[in-house]
Amino acid sequence: MAARAGIPLQDMEFWQFHPTGVHGAGVLLTEGCRGEGAILRNSNGERFMERYAPAYKDLAPRDYVSRCMDQEIKEGRGCGPNKDYINLDMTHLGVETIMKRLPSVFEIGHNFANVDITKEPIPVVPTIHYQMGGIPTNINGQVVTQNDKNESVVVKGLYAVGECSCVSVHGANRLGTNSLLDLLVFGRAAGDHIVKFATENAAHKALPANAADASLARVARLDNSTDGEYAQNVADDIRNTMQAHASVFRTQAAMDEGVEKVAALRKRVANITLKDKSKIFNTARIEALEVDNLIEVAQATMVSAAARHESRGAHTVNDYGDTAAHPNGRNDIDWQKHTLWDSASNSLSYKPVQMKPLTVESIPLAVRSF
Ligand SMILES: Cc1cc2nc3c(=O)[nH]c(=O)nc-3n(C[C@H](O)[C@H](O)[C@H](O)COP(=O)(O)OP(=O)(O)OC[C@H]3O[C@@H](n4cnc5c(N)ncnc54)[C@H](O)[C@@H]3O)c2cc1C
Repeated sequence: MAARAGIPLQDMEFWQFHPTGVHGAGVLLTEGCRGEGAILRNSNGERFMERYAPAYKDLAPRDYVSRCMDQEIKEGRGCGPNKDYINLDMTHLGVETIMKRLPSVFEIGHNFANVDITKEPIPVVPTIHYQMGGIPTNINGQVVTQNDKNESVVVKGLYAVGECSCVSVHGANRLGTNSLLDLLVFGRAAGDHIVKFATENAAHKALPANAADASLARVARLDNSTDGEYAQNVADDIRNTMQAHASVFRTQAAMDEGVEKVAALRKRVANITLKDKSKIFNTARIEALEVDNLIEVAQATMVSAAARHESRGAHTVNDYGDTAAHPNGRNDIDWQKHTLWDSASNSLSYKPVQMKPLTVESIPLAVRSF
């Protein structure tokens, strides 16, 4: 909604993958599994994380474990007939621990993988989990855009809170449990600000007469459509394209190709038809409208990612590997800046990273290592 209303989206190339989504279903298995001692194994039964992160092993950060799993699969050590997943082994934890500490995981194994996790490993793959980017805000949850001098200015009366927002506390990566920060800390800050703002600005401005036109036109286009594509076919192609071109590991060539593919998909989205035009409980209409949202997020992600010629946080690109000048492929000289993607023009601009905290000392940049 914000992108369509002309707010450029920030840092959309940065997405967190969670290591343990159930293969074929996508349902997540809590980090608690590995916290309790679950082990990731490849097709040789090897605990491969010992090779990648000897100290942390299976408890290394999410993005790192996800990339190691992807590497194992790509190098032919994936499990199953298609060698396309990793086994999460909890059998050694014992029935009592599993039923006491991980009962929901037992249920998920039964319902979504047809597996008894007390007796056999469960197939998992890295699964998309959280967007670090979003609608740019300040610490009060007020949405900001850039003026002619590339300074952030508040869009008066518009707030964004939670995962859709980008206060930018996560930067290019994210640890576990940080949604509490988004929701409780910045949620409260935004709530406090809204109360103050509403108290001081009790009278709302009159809405422009055409305020609902754009939204109604979206619905009307679907209602008046007579032929075109099914929403789910286009949505599936968007998902598959993003999986192939903006995944855990990226390459410049794949991202460049992804930009073209997503642009073509955008044209197909404009041609989606709605066969069932009924007005009550019409989930087909909601699904069709949601594809409009999917394509905004997909294009923001793809275009922003292809333009960032480095590896940073969750944006790991094989072409930009570890060098003396750029450890881990991170290039702070050219790329320590926020991306902004504008939907209407499908174009990018950049804004500086605020390196000076308001109340505490700044933490110097360091090379990430294990
Ligand atoms: C499976 C899973 C497990 C996770 N586990 C963890 C974890 O262990 N720790 C952690 O920190 N984070 C976790 N996360 C991430 C965390 O859950 C989310 O970041 C967080 O819940 C986002 O909260 P939110 O309020 O911003 O958005 P949501 O919880 O998605 O709420 C958005 C709400 O807006 C409603 N909505 C959408 N569109 C409209 C509209 N047009 N009009 C009105 N309402 C609308 C939706 O129905 C929804 O209720 C997990 C995420 C997933 C998917």
